[in-house]
Amino acid sequence: MPDTIVALATPTGRSGIGVIRLSGLDALAITAKLIGEEDFAPEPRTAHLRQLYEGGGVIDEAIITYFKAPHSFTGEEVVEISCHGSPVLLRQVIDICLANDARMADAGEFSLRALANGRMDLAEAEAIRDLIGAQTTASARQAIRQLRGELSNQLQPLKDKLLDVIVILESVLEFVEDDLPEMQAESVKEKLREIADETDELAATYKAGKLIRDGLRVAIVGRPNVGKSSLFNRLLGTERAIVTEIAGTTRDQLHERFTINDIPISLIDTAGLRETSDTVESIGVERSKAVMADADLVLVMLDASEEITTEDHAIIESVEGLTFIVALNKIDKRPSYDIDHMIVGKHSSLSHLRDKLVPISAKTGEGLDELEIAIVAPFSAEDVATSGFLVTDARHHDLLVRTRSEIEQSLDQLDKKMSEEIVLVGLHNALRFLGEITGETTTEDMLTRIFSTFCIGK
Ligand code: GDP
Repeated sequence: MPDTIVALATPTGRSGIGVIRLSGLDALAITAKLIGEEDFAPEPRTAHLRQLYEGGGVIDEAIITYFKAPHSFTGEEVVEISCHGSPVLLRQVIDICLANDARMADAGEFSLRALANGRMDLAEAEAIRDLIGAQTTASARQAIRQLRGELSNQLQPLKDKLLDVIVILESVLEFVEDDLPEMQAESVKEKLREIADETDELAATYKAGKLIRDGLRVAIVGRPNVGKSSLFNRLLGTERAIVTEIAGTTRDQLHERFTINDIPISLIDTAGLRETSDTVESIGVERSKAVMADADLVLVMLDASEEITTEDHAIIESVEGLTFIVALNKIDKRPSYDIDHMIVGKHSSLSHLRDKLVPISAKTGEGLDELEIAIVAPFSAEDVATSGFLVTDARHHDLLVRTRSEIEQSLDQLDKKMSEEIVLVGLHNALRFLGEITGETTTEDMLTRIFSTFCIGK
């Protein structure tokens, strides 16, 4: 019988309330000790106001909710204790639970137990993690769809069809002396092609799914004073107050987040990297280069109110081969007819930049909508808006790609009239890969790895 586990289900830190969750056979007995009521037998799914005690003294008043197995998140006996949200108090309550033989939950252990008890499949458990970690509403929406079983539901018919084919081939192997009859071979191939196509279609949604979930890293580069900081602030705009800073980033000016059409954008000011670097300039430049190389898109900034300098040329050269666009800033300072002449007329070596060029003014806001469109355009962001269910997890995508490749290989072997035994190897692999997405055929090691990406209390 697994131990009874305990963890704080709400974030650490002060808050109105903090919820402690217990799961396991002794959940109710441990709660009974906390409230000093030996025969505590609450009605399930009902709120009960109780005092919590330690050493005879009241330490808090809490709302206790009991979920009777198997009708709980984990499928086990679960008690949720909503205390007042003091970190000291919450720690004290958890310590009392630990002293009464509960064990501190590992990361994702509540979800792991839910999986083990058939309360959800692996893809659904991962959806909870994604929902909690979602950076945008679009990303949260996708996670909810996955949580409600959409991915699992799309995979089931694929698995059924694949199993049909496997059964046919297995029975040929068992009972038929000769090879697969031609007619049947054709129908098997037809079915496999269908499975391959459908797997492919699902895998293809990952491009948009990844965009929604992970977003884009955009690096701004340009010589001093072209207006990078001004653009930075403009793009962050009113969102600045609601964007969450990246953990561990102390120089918040350098790395900020906002969204364009539901796509999370992480904006990096490479100049800032250089200017705040303690080390010599050249190392700063190296770092800028590394950031640019890592970015999904580089936004080169030029100053329309001045002539193009050799430094501008050098910057443009350094981004060749990367995905980049050019923001021509401060157009408010220069009549527009002049701009084309400035870039293309005077500097013929820059004529190839023409369709990458977006005239803007960080000061007046002119051209900023166009700039936002240009930032996401290279990533076919329109798919994101129009799409239905999207595969958002790299693990799922990888398994879908591998499924498809196994099926393609089996098709090829069928064409070459190789033995059913050989063909079946690939098909069994494909079935296993599809099963790994929902966790039916996932190994213990794999599960431990996946659940370690969850946070404690989930
Ligand atoms: P950075 O060094 O590239 O970060 O440049 P800043 O954002 O600090 O801008 C340098 C100067 O240019 C500041 O005085 C800004 O007010 C000014 N500036 C930035 N963008 C514009 C613009 O679009 N039009 C005008 N007229 N001035 C701008």
